[in-house]
Amino acid sequence: LTNLSKYHPITDAQWKKGLPVPYMALAKTFELIEGTSRRLLIIEHLTNLFRSIMALTPGDLINTIYMSINKIGPSYGGKELGIGESILMKAVAESTGRTMEFIKQELKTVGDLGIIAQSSRMTQTMMFAPPPLTIQGVFKIFSQIADMTGNSSQNKKKDLITKLLVSCKESEALYIIRSLQGKLRIGLAERSVLIALTRAMVISPPALIASEPNGKLDTRKGKTTEEFASVIDAAVAKVTRAYSQLPNYDLLVPRLIVADGVDTILETCRLMAGIPVKPMLAQPTTGITQVLDRFQEMEFTCEFKYDGERAQIHLTEDGKISIYTRNLEDYTGKYPDIIANVKRFIGEGVTSFILDCEAVAYDPTNNKILSFQILSSRPRKGVSLDQIKIPVCVFAFDLLYLNGKSLIDEPFYKRREVLYANFKETPGALTYAKHANISDVNDIQLYLQEAIDGNCEGLMVKTLKEQSIYEPSKRSYNWLKIKKDYMAGMTDSVDVVPIGAWYGKGKRTGVYGAYLLACYDDDNEDFQTLCKIGTGFSDEQLKEFTEILAPQVTNSCKNTYIVSDNLKPDVWFNPSQVWEVLAADLSISPIHTAAVGVLDPNKGIALRFPRFIQIRKDKNPEDATTASQIVDMYKNQKINSFKMVDEDY
Ligand code: ATP
Repeated sequence: LTNLSKYHPITDAQWKKGLPVPYMALAKTFELIEGTSRRLLIIEHLTNLFRSIMALTPGDLINTIYMSINKIGPSYGGKELGIGESILMKAVAESTGRTMEFIKQELKTVGDLGIIAQSSRMTQTMMFAPPPLTIQGVFKIFSQIADMTGNSSQNKKKDLITKLLVSCKESEALYIIRSLQGKLRIGLAERSVLIALTRAMVISPPALIASEPNGKLDTRKGKTTEEFASVIDAAVAKVTRAYSQLPNYDLLVPRLIVADGVDTILETCRLMAGIPVKPMLAQPTTGITQVLDRFQEMEFTCEFKYDGERAQIHLTEDGKISIYTRNLEDYTGKYPDIIANVKRFIGEGVTSFILDCEAVAYDPTNNKILSFQILSSRPRKGVSLDQIKIPVCVFAFDLLYLNGKSLIDEPFYKRREVLYANFKETPGALTYAKHANISDVNDIQLYLQEAIDGNCEGLMVKTLKEQSIYEPSKRSYNWLKIKKDYMAGMTDSVDVVPIGAWYGKGKRTGVYGAYLLACYDDDNEDFQTLCKIGTGFSDEQLKEFTEILAPQVTNSCKNTYIVSDNLKPDVWFNPSQVWEVLAADLSISPIHTAAVGVLDPNKGIALRFPRFIQIRKDKNPEDATTASQIVDMYKNQKINSFKMVDEDY
């Protein structure tokens, strides 16, 4: 990291106005980011890079954003890197002139193939220095690699990677290898990228920066820190809402880099059929009285909370139907039956829509809702209509877009009216989510029981008029969930990430007997421990998890894990899975680090008597329960009331 603190991409000698951005500018920015755990500093480093790119080579901005989030297109597109370790090892061996044996041996001690690639390249002398890598060039090769399929492509992939590595200098090899592994591991979350992008646009408005002779326009000058902070906060709120409606940088960035781009972004970036929207989520409650406290004077409605899988169904004007999950994964191939049913349940004159619903396993003969477990035994993709063994019915609860118009700024009662007017209840294909506009405690109690008896998880209680717009990607206080589990102790189950494990003893010899679980702190972008767990697992599960997690074992605790010195698991894992866990309650803990410093300067929050429920296959580690949610849960169990905070994006 020599002289890195003085590094500023704009003064990089190799990078002249109009020329492609050298990959080195990104690699150095990654080094700076990896070298700090301070989120504001991380954002500042990335902001500097983005400002420089806008001043010198704005055409490279979108690729740079994708490289920063380690993607090669919008996350819903399904294009993945994640190249297998053996191809990467071969490429490292070929590009550095080392043997495979040597690389394997090194990997055992160093534990990071990226570091091996970097150090091997540094010790290698070249007869002719290859031309410097550019962001465009690397991005193009990454895209080609991601597009290659089948066994025969393995060699071609390896050759492309070898070619890239041969041209690497300094830390470039490290980040190229990690990007290809699909794990950049520099502690940079997408939220920070979005904030850095917005800051760059505000500090150096793109429409003005191009005409600045030295490209160093800075609108912070002449403003106090507070004044600037409020400008940034407002801009970030707009850009994040715009991105949550249109989560595609290829569409967002061109709309941002025009004159007044940030100011007008909510008008220029609207929902589009065919582009999935990050769904609105609900806040947990401890029970009915808490709901009534929250909604006091507001009109609200109680809906059954179905236990299936979120399905966002899109129909575009040109007739294409697609289905996306809660995490914007494309599940169109999983549900040919829903696709076939669309024409049965849409009303006359419907040409495009985005429908929010729950896909639920369903027994059409007895008109019965089946459990989530039955639904999850359905294959994920590549199913044809005649292969379907588990029928699914769609329970529609919201309509976000119809015939070219976004509805998300309409109040919920209106959206529901439009939904009912344009979609027909069709047995076994589409049912409106069952609802009752009731507000009496006893009525709600009976309705909750009815929902549970009908194989539902509980109730969703939603505002109808005031404060009832659809808030993409937000866990909103205008949607509250009451689950049957809440009645038994903790507010809600939590979704946590196994980050370490202890070897089992006695009956559990040969498998991990206990795991260390962590929640995700989305402010600091790290994982903080919540509890040790050894209960709720069947013998088969213990065996299965030991096998599944074997490839994730790493040599040491990662720098994104906040763990107290008293906790020393036998092995550490990369964050890879999300587990749903239920506990008796939450307590202040001197050992665990979840939300450390929030309620007590030196103590965190822990789960007491945790029990494993299931794997959440639909969640990524960054979608785990957040540290601030843990704080809310802790407070809820104490004072039984909400802390009203708005949680963006
Ligand atoms: P969990 O599913 O464990 O409750 P989560 O974090 O995935 O947690 P929540 O926001 O807690 O999601 O709950 C909302 C989920 O409930 C939605 O994503 C959707 O899949 C499901 N759901 C079922 N019925 C409804 C409904 N009537 N309205 C909204 N969401 C519903």
